[in-house]
Amino acid sequence: MNLQDRDKAVIWHPFTPFKHSPAPIPIVRGEGVYLIDEQGRRYIDAISSWWVNLHGHAHPYIAERIYRQANILEQVIFAGFTHEPAIELAERLLPKLPGDFSKIFYSDNGSTATEVAIKMALQFWWNRAVGSQKAGIDSQPTKRKKILAFNDSYHGDTFGSMSVSDRSIFTLAFHDKLFEVVFINTPSRENLPLLKQVIEKEGDGIAAFIYEPLLQGAGGMKLYEADLLDELLVTVKKHNIICIADEVMTGFGRTGKLFASAYCKVQPDIICLSKGLTGGTMALGVTAVVSSIVDAFVSDDKLKTFFHGHSFTANPLACTAALASLDLLEKESCEANIENIVQLNTEFTEGLRKSKHALLKNIRQLGTVVAFEIEQGENSYLNSIAAVITEKALKRGVYLRPLGNTVYIMPPYCIGMDQLELVYTAIKEILAEIQTPSL
Ligand SMILES: *Cc1c(COP(=O)(O)O)cnc(C)c1O
Repeated sequence: MNLQDRDKAVIWHPFTPFKHSPAPIPIVRGEGVYLIDEQGRRYIDAISSWWVNLHGHAHPYIAERIYRQANILEQVIFAGFTHEPAIELAERLLPKLPGDFSKIFYSDNGSTATEVAIKMALQFWWNRAVGSQKAGIDSQPTKRKKILAFNDSYHGDTFGSMSVSDRSIFTLAFHDKLFEVVFINTPSRENLPLLKQVIEKEGDGIAAFIYEPLLQGAGGMKLYEADLLDELLVTVKKHNIICIADEVMTGFGRTGKLFASAYCKVQPDIICLSKGLTGGTMALGVTAVVSSIVDAFVSDDKLKTFFHGHSFTANPLACTAALASLDLLEKESCEANIENIVQLNTEFTEGLRKSKHALLKNIRQLGTVVAFEIEQGENSYLNSIAAVITEKALKRGVYLRPLGNTVYIMPPYCIGMDQLELVYTAIKEILAEIQTPSL
């Protein structure tokens, strides 16, 4: 039996309907920007394998570091024990983060990184209330319970992270099980006064505000302005609401700066990282926290402990992969390549705008990410144009995976400029083809 038949017999794939989906392509090898299938066909991974890969596939330096670490210590329980890769990674990450962060909490992926952030924020208010109650300071201590989040947001697939994500087709089957969230639109000049009103009204009951800074990923690669976010954050912070920046996707250079929050003046109190954290080689999540939040958990009262952890919390192999990825990210050649991608993307985006293509809408770019909508059928994740584009791109040796009718690229930073040009050419050819379907 070939791999596709064996797969069909036993595997259930993520985000994939059982019926009417093309059979998954068996990938036997990765090499730099390429994914290589059984027949030896090579595909440029123009979306970094769901936004995780930074330095290319099967990177020899990261592989070597993981191998060496696996021979020393592969895993150890992280309660009551510690290890150098976890400590060193926290030491190196903290000074890089936008803001004054004091502690790193490790988990397994992006969903757990946001889940941890939400739980910490809620427990922060719980701990404070319990504390003042015991000290007899406040007869009716506030346990803030509501969360504030954006429409079109995506923060993960576990119940907490689903709850703070926009209600969408992803969450449809679970709506009655999701906790209450105050949803607002991302800020624009026009709606900012209204958003501020909502926060003024609800503010003192809101525990935390979670947001994807500047670029909303799975909700459709939507952009909004840093100065508007700043204005919103000022109002939010005035009400002592804990600000959680979900940089699971935007982190590690995607937006042209190391973190998207670095475009802002107002910094978050908690930041969530995953995806590019290990260069896309191993699953790892980080929730970084400022000291004022940590302090609410430092207590003689054992009930104020953060009772949360995962079997593989701070896995030494994953931490080592993250350290190796940071080494590569800090190289001048990587920074230069990110700049080159941003430059070429800018030119490509301008070219698309000038092309006045009848089906193109909302052409936009932030850093290494370019996105646009194809106006054909509904504006939805279920738009079947996505599969058409993927197929046409694969034929041209490029891997794209549109979010419905939203097409985007998010290449690994190791991509050569000639390879990036191939991606652009493929997109232009595909656009020409779908405009005149008879071709
Ligand atoms: C992908 C993503 C997540 C979830 O991460 P997983 O590792 O897939 O669980 C959370 N937030 C954002 C912004 C993401 O893009």
